[in-house]
Amino acid sequence: MRFRLLNGRIKAVKNFSEDSMKITQINDIPQPPLNSNFQFNPELQRLLSGKQLLFDDLPYPLDEIQIHYDNGYITFRRGIEYDGKKPFCVRCGNKDTVWFETFPCARCGETCFYCRKCLMMGRISECTPLIGWKGPVPDTELPLQIMAWQGTLSEGQSEASQRVAYAILHNKEWLVWAVCGAGKTEVLFEGIEAGLAANKRLCIATPRTDVVLELTPRLKAAFPQIEIASLYGGSKDRHKFAPLTIATTHQLLRFYHAFDAIILDEVDAFPYTAEEVLQHAAIQARKPESAMIYLTATPNAKWQKECHSGKRAFTTIPARFHRYPLPVPEFQWCGNWQKQLKKNRLPPNVLKWVKERLNNGKQALVFFPHIPLMEKALPILRQFTPNIQAVHAEDPERKEKVQKMRSKEIPLLLTTTILERGVTFPNIDVAVVGAEDDIFLESALVQIAGRAGRSKDYPEGVVTFFHYGKTEAMLRARRQIVSMNREGVKRGLIDV
Ligand SMILES: [Zn+2]
Ligand SMILES: [Zn+2]
Repeated sequence: MRFRLLNGRIKAVKNFSEDSMKITQINDIPQPPLNSNFQFNPELQRLLSGKQLLFDDLPYPLDEIQIHYDNGYITFRRGIEYDGKKPFCVRCGNKDTVWFETFPCARCGETCFYCRKCLMMGRISECTPLIGWKGPVPDTELPLQIMAWQGTLSEGQSEASQRVAYAILHNKEWLVWAVCGAGKTEVLFEGIEAGLAANKRLCIATPRTDVVLELTPRLKAAFPQIEIASLYGGSKDRHKFAPLTIATTHQLLRFYHAFDAIILDEVDAFPYTAEEVLQHAAIQARKPESAMIYLTATPNAKWQKECHSGKRAFTTIPARFHRYPLPVPEFQWCGNWQKQLKKNRLPPNVLKWVKERLNNGKQALVFFPHIPLMEKALPILRQFTPNIQAVHAEDPERKEKVQKMRSKEIPLLLTTTILERGVTFPNIDVAVVGAEDDIFLESALVQIAGRAGRSKDYPEGVVTFFHYGKTEAMLRARRQIVSMNREGVKRGLIDV
């Protein structure tokens, strides 16, 4: 795509000509005033409101896009901008030159610069405009009854729920620090209802597709008459306009100034590099005046510090719904277990721990830091019973194994950190072998410990960290759990 500047407007042209430019070369992109007499296309309005899309994303001829721009309804923004001589990607915020590449571009007929970092969402190059909507937003009709959910909240949930609703209505930032198993989804319902009633457009965003798929039916059940868009790679709701959106954080890259409130779930569940893109995406997707709610069981060290020094507004839910304390991990030194594994042996206290569970018929998850070590341990443990299984991220039978664990066909499941969050088995003990490994950050260890004792029928569980030298992360994780329990008791949220 190229553009010509004519009479204070830009005109998109398909083919290369000397008097046309790439969008990046136009310094001030003119924006025609809104012509209120113009009959705009309501489908285009629904598709583009709050978005930043590419020509390729729009199933309309160029003329139709152009006429909406000419009448002030569509905006063009540069996909790549320059900060001095340094390019940056407007969509994903990438500034790192290694993520840029040049290629002979068919769209503009020249050599063109493009961003590799967000390539999976369609190519952003120097000749690529981000297309947005500047006309009126689509009307949404609200049902008489917005929320159908009629459950009750625990005391801890109830307090957080009021904070969330207040933050959504008053465009505040708020962190909800809720222990694993506190029931954080229900804490959102009151705020979502209040926000929808105030005609706000809301979004729940999370890094993981699994979570989007799990949340969607729950939100649909709680808000049965509200249109909900559920967005992840390959989802069919991609072009749906909805007052409530549930999306992976990646999908936020297609939004621009769309939401009055974004609820970011599992903010800590990112590798560091992805975090920057996410932050950029979330900032772009929210309106300049909007609310931001963060939900997590394990804020990072920086955020914890900000909470404790009063720099970050937050609410804790220190206790689980069932009012029992969180299981506190016990530390057991197990010597140089890696060396023992090389000789096809496991430390005696690890073997004893496993044997006790098998004898008592108590299911358990045993975490290992790396796949090869876990696979070495598997045949050793299978000497007790052949039903023991091991699972990791690339395991094609991952889902089946988790299902078999749920239906109690597997007595003991060995796993990497892949099962550290998001899975719930009602009655299990948990062990980590090699808890000193760098892969087990404080947040990972808190999440792992949080797998035990979740059900109200089995609120207790044993959590054991087998280690070859205690780490700061282990100590911090245990401290965090102990301090949440203490707070829960103090606030009367735990029965003692
Ligand atoms: Zn990019
Ligand atoms: Zn180009």
